[in-house]
Amino acid sequence: MYIKDRYPFECLFPASLSPTLMLIAFEGAARDLDRDWEFKSHTDDDPDRGVNSWHRYGLAIDGQLTGEYSETLHEKWAENIRERLGYLFDVVFHKRHVHAEFDPKGKRRARQGG
Ligand SMILES: [Zn+2]
Repeated sequence: MYIKDRYPFECLFPASLSPTLMLIAFEGAARDLDRDWEFKSHTDDDPDRGVNSWHRYGLAIDGQLTGEYSETLHEKWAENIRERLGYLFDVVFHKRHVHAEFDPKGKRRARQGG
């Protein structure tokens, strides 16, 4: 699944659907790498997270590829997820996992981590 760039998705789905779209993108991108992945978290708090993280609102997810850890592979995975989700989401590789969050306004918030 790819969300077409500049398509007005923000008008078509509520924010509550965004975790589902992120999961689909994480899965598709992992399959492209012939790897499986582990869903790390959705809403729980973590002291490593930035104060502006959307996790506490259930609008962000973290994932990590299974198997032997590879930073290069995670960076490729993040890039693939970023391409799939388009401009309404932020996707970053951070501390051995990929973080994605729904960010329809495209605002770049100061963030210490994902
Ligand atoms: Zn995160």
